[in-house]
Amino acid sequence: MNVFSIPLRTRFRGITLREGMLLRGPGGWGEWSPFLEYDARVAEPWLRCAEEAAAGDWPAPVRDRVAVNVTVPAVGPDQAHRIAAAGGCRTAKVKVAEPGQALAEDEARLEAVRDALGPDAAIRVDANGAWSVDEAVAAISALDRAAGGLEYAEQPCASVEDLAAVRRRVAVPIAADESIRRAEDPYRVRDLEAADIAVLKVQPLGGVRACLRIAEDIGLPVVVSSALETSVGIAAGIALAAALPELPYACGLATVQLLTADVVAEPLLPVDGFLPVGRPRVDPAAVDLLVARPERVAHWQARLAEVRGWVP
Ligand SMILES: [Mg+2]
Repeated sequence: MNVFSIPLRTRFRGITLREGMLLRGPGGWGEWSPFLEYDARVAEPWLRCAEEAAAGDWPAPVRDRVAVNVTVPAVGPDQAHRIAAAGGCRTAKVKVAEPGQALAEDEARLEAVRDALGPDAAIRVDANGAWSVDEAVAAISALDRAAGGLEYAEQPCASVEDLAAVRRRVAVPIAADESIRRAEDPYRVRDLEAADIAVLKVQPLGGVRACLRIAEDIGLPVVVSSALETSVGIAAGIALAAALPELPYACGLATVQLLTADVVAEPLLPVDGFLPVGRPRVDPAAVDLLVARPERVAHWQARLAEVRGWVP
């Protein structure tokens, strides 16, 4: 096993370093990278995902490439235009509702992204739960106009109940992201009819096969998204996206460029808006360069032992 520590290009979720462990099994490498504040109960499904990958126990793919979105942060319109155009994707996810910014700034950003990508591109917004129900209803209508049509609005409000309330009042489809973090969450989203689309991440939900079961149970279209993994972890998300019977939306798996380095020879970067299905080859020389300091290695080994010994 290897413990890696990779600086991020910019601060994300309050962190500047991404740490995790690569576990090797008969089927290849798996990534275990629960965020540092997670206790054993939360980190346990993340380990099941890594062990599934290391066992090579992924379902057969039904497609050989996966469409992905470019992510446009809450930047000004000129920069948003550049990022959208440079992404090479036919779908953009635009961050909105940034604290301290006005709705007019979100509108200007969406107009710029539409201008960059043209009339046929799909544009979705992600509010990361920042709006109240009334704010969401007003903002989604305004942003739908500014964008010349929104594909969907992701996590407009924080709670599942509020998502359901917004969904009843707007025509734009609603996606649940932060509302789905544990295995039971997707069922709550379904039962409250809170979303049209479920954003699933393989590590927090216990792996590729667990997510496939969830997708089948809840009967909602799925967007597979990353948890800021290296290409080894991203490959597990791609395995899910490749195995889903239907994949009507581009996925949020084009995130390895947020890291300053990677552990594979050929990082999973999008080409013409798609990621290839398959397992990238781990590069031992690259891994050596990214090995964490001894005290961090010891921390992760202790953490692994704790999670392996954890009994619900
Ligand atoms: Mg999101």
